[in-house]
Amino acid sequence: MDVYGLIGNPVGHSLSPPMHEAGYEALGVDARYVTFEPPVEGAAAAVEGAADLGVAGLNVTIPFKQDALVAVEPDPLARRIGAVNTVDFSGERPTGHNTDAVGATRALRAHDVTLSGTAVVVGAGGAGRAVAFGLADEGMTVRVANRTASKADGLADEVAATTDGADATGHGLDALPELLADADVLVNATSVGMESEETPVPADALHGDLGVLDAVYRPLETRLLRDAADAGATTVDGAWMLLYQGVAAFERWTDREAPVDAMNEALRERL
Ligand code: NAP
Repeated sequence: MDVYGLIGNPVGHSLSPPMHEAGYEALGVDARYVTFEPPVEGAAAAVEGAADLGVAGLNVTIPFKQDALVAVEPDPLARRIGAVNTVDFSGERPTGHNTDAVGATRALRAHDVTLSGTAVVVGAGGAGRAVAFGLADEGMTVRVANRTASKADGLADEVAATTDGADATGHGLDALPELLADADVLVNATSVGMESEETPVPADALHGDLGVLDAVYRPLETRLLRDAADAGATTVDGAWMLLYQGVAAFERWTDREAPVDAMNEALRERL
C-alpha cells in the first residue's frame, strides 16, 4: 500500500484526504492519504522524515509551502513561485512542484475560459504568485493588483524577469476598474470573501466578457462570483482550483489519469 499525505499546521479541516482517497477508490489504487501536523518550524524535517518513512508523495500547505523548498529539488516553476505544494519521492532526491498554478489554469479551461489576452490577478500572496506565474506561462498579459501595491510591483517584476516575452505590471487595488475594462480573465487570489460577504472588486467594474475565478472556496458562491454572474461573466469557484491542484498532484504521483469526476464529487460533498 502506498501512503500519500499532507503536511500543514493546522490541517484538521483539509479536504484533500477525501478527494484523493475517492480517486484511489475509483481507480482501484491501493493507497491511503493522511494528514500530518508538524510544528510550524518543522517543514524541512517533516519532508525529510516522510522520505525516510517511505511516504510516496506529500502535499504541503500553510505555513510550510515556502520552507519546504529547502528540503527538495524544486522544478523551475516552483522555484519561480518560491513555494512548493507537492513533493514527489519517486526519484533519488525529493522533487518539489507547485500545482496551484495549473490548478487555476485547468479550472478556467474546464469552464471554456480562453487563456489569452489580459489577466487581472488580485492578490500577491502565495496564491497570487502561483496564479500570476501560471497565467504568464500561458502567454497572458498579467496585471497584478494588491492592497500592498509594492508587493504587486515586486511580483510583476519577477514574472516579467523570468517569463519569456511576458508583459506584467503591478498596481494598487484602486486601479481595478481601469485594469478590468479591457481584461479577459480575473482571478481573486486574496482571502477577501472567505467566510464573509466582502469582495475585493467593485461590482460595477465587472463585465460580461470576463472569466472570473475566485480562489476562495468557503463559501463556494462568494459575493465576487455573484456580482460577476450578474454582470454576465463566466464564473469559476475556488473548489475547481482546489480540485485541479489535487488532480495534478495525483497524476504526478500515480502516473495515471485522475478520475476527476469522482474527486470532484468527494470534494463538493464536503463543501
Ligand atoms: P496569503 O499568502 O496570506 O496572501 C493573502 C493575500 O490577500 C495578500 O495579497 C493580501 O494582501 C490579501 N489580503 C488579505 N486581507 C485583505 C484585505 N482585507 N483587503 C485586501 N487584500 C487583502 O494567502 P494565500 O495563501 O495567497 O491565500 C489567499 C486565498 O486563496 C485564501 O482564501 C486561500 O484559502 C485561497 N487559496 C485557494 C486555493 C485553491 O486551491 N482554491 C489555493 C491556495 C489558496 P497584502 O499583501 O496587502 O497583505
